[in-house]
Amino acid sequence: MSAQPFTLPPLPWAEDALAPVISKQTIEFHYGKHHAAYVNNLNGLVAGTDMADMSLEEIVRKVKDQPDKKGIFNNAGQVWNHTFFWNSLAPSRTEPSKALAEKIDEAFGGMAQFEEQFIKAATAQFGSGWAWLTLDGGKLAIETTSNADTPMAHGRKCLLTVDVWEHAYYLDYQNRRPDFLKAVVGQRLNWKFASENFEAGS
Ligand code: MN
Repeated sequence: MSAQPFTLPPLPWAEDALAPVISKQTIEFHYGKHHAAYVNNLNGLVAGTDMADMSLEEIVRKVKDQPDKKGIFNNAGQVWNHTFFWNSLAPSRTEPSKALAEKIDEAFGGMAQFEEQFIKAATAQFGSGWAWLTLDGGKLAIETTSNADTPMAHGRKCLLTVDVWEHAYYLDYQNRRPDFLKAVVGQRLNWKFASENFEAGS
């Protein structure tokens, strides 16, 4: 079955559901313009190629080390990353499963320590990119990636992500990325989604 053309998946919540942490206006642009543009660009780039029948994951992994396919990597990665990001957010914060909570205690010393380390790493990501909670061989880690890159391309299981491109926060927070991160991490992370990913294993 052909996976083409790729489509913009519906948001898991209403556009105003994350306000005031993330405004309706930000979602309208971020989802309706940025995410949609990546989907359209990708469809244009893969039309008529051997990638026409591949999934997003297959495309990202196939082209990740091919410099002449950078445009395909960037757009496919951004489509996947954004869909994963919307699912990483919830109108009100949800709690991790007991198993994931125990793993967070073990890896970071507790949820508060995880949040502090995650915000620190996400703030320090230079320029456009993403912050992630990943699972690699049964071990939790905080990672950051640049531009469209994603731990999924490199064989790690993604549990949660936060977009730290300026378009993710500039309308609401201008240059104050740490304020955006504190609000999102404290009030809008979907730990239920992270737990489902965790329980699905590495
Ligand atoms: Mn984005």
